[in-house]
Amino acid sequence: MSPNAPITQDVMTIPRKLPEGKLNLVGLTRDQLREALIEHGTPEKQAKMRTGQIWQWIYQRGVRDFAEMTNLAKAYRAQLAESFVVEIPEVVTRQVSEDGTRKYLCRIAGGHEVEVVYIPEEDRGTLCISSQVGCTLTCSFCHTGTQKLVRNLTAAEIVGQVMMARDDLDEWPTPGAPKDETRLLSNIVLMGMGEPLYNFENVRDAMKIAMDPEGISLSRRRITLSTSGVVPEIARTAEEIGCLLAISFHATTDEVRDVLVPINKRWNIEELLQSLASYPKVSNSERITFEYVMLDGVNDRDEDAHRLIDHIKRYKIPAKINLIPFNEWPGAPYKRSSNNRIRAFANIIYQAGYASPIRKTRGEDIMAACGQLKSATERARKSRKQIEAEAGLNR
Ligand code: SAH
Ligand code: SF4
Repeated sequence: MSPNAPITQDVMTIPRKLPEGKLNLVGLTRDQLREALIEHGTPEKQAKMRTGQIWQWIYQRGVRDFAEMTNLAKAYRAQLAESFVVEIPEVVTRQVSEDGTRKYLCRIAGGHEVEVVYIPEEDRGTLCISSQVGCTLTCSFCHTGTQKLVRNLTAAEIVGQVMMARDDLDEWPTPGAPKDETRLLSNIVLMGMGEPLYNFENVRDAMKIAMDPEGISLSRRRITLSTSGVVPEIARTAEEIGCLLAISFHATTDEVRDVLVPINKRWNIEELLQSLASYPKVSNSERITFEYVMLDGVNDRDEDAHRLIDHIKRYKIPAKINLIPFNEWPGAPYKRSSNNRIRAFANIIYQAGYASPIRKTRGEDIMAACGQLKSATERARKSRKQIEAEAGLNR
């Protein structure tokens, strides 16, 4: 099989129009939901209770149709349906890799598309979600960074990716259902398209919903936000979200990092390390993950490994170092380091007392690996055209 051939590519749904003028309840905080209900006729005295009921239907049971919210009076359900919708991004295609990784192409308002990747593992199932369409940053090894079109996703579109995956995995827990460890979707990583800390409020609101115990109810330790290093927002992440943090470190000198991760010109390695040093204390979270993409001859020498350890030790940062074999994309200016080089690098870090897992590349056959997400969109566009043509024929 050719390396990029999808194993399956199902067309899931045909475009639907958002009903005019109705407010989407997905992505609202509890307070916003309560206000919206009051504004649309729910008596203030009942608002708190109704908010809780509707919240559970949406986030605990996965219900999208008010008619199914059977603990609400029939007339009230009809009233809700007049003013509101419960809408999530629509799946256009789903590809399943030979290793079980699933990649979804989702359509959001305005016809934009984002990719979401589900990675099943023995002891967990991780959903890699996107925070933006494209990315305004231009890391030189990342395919998403070459995409021109950028827009922030709304909180609804961010938490909606999780709800979409739950639909596909058929995993809407009923009361008394499995806890985190045994769920198919047990972890979330914000490592898809976009820089989450350039869309802070929406990411925060969406993750708060994902953590809410009366809903999706994932523990904050099962959510990891990956950032290229938007220093001023790092402390805020600890205070306002409290999830785990991964940092796209990738280089050990400013000279190299300026090229690989250009945001380094704004906040350099020292400033970044300072902000990381105070992160675990604030959020009370576990170790910070240092992501380090292995680029042949660029950042993969022994001295880089030693310098990396120096940085982390100097600031006493509780860390694990995740080595990512570079995922090549058409026209990429770098090559992946050899396996021997990656192992030697990992060994230096391990000897220094830090965990240094080498990330297993998943879903390569469907271009679902880290940093490959742009080309996949472009390739899928063809099939989107096909979908639209088919939809036109069926109308
Ligand atoms: N914008 C955020 C999150 C999205 S990128 C960030 O940069 O952290 C998620 C991870 O994939 C980052 O660590 C990023 O550096 C890495 N990545 C990007 N392109 C890659 C590629 N081609 N191969 C391997 N990892 C890549
Ligand atoms: Fe954006 Fe992250 Fe890619 Fe850099 S690595 S261009 S920050 S998505």
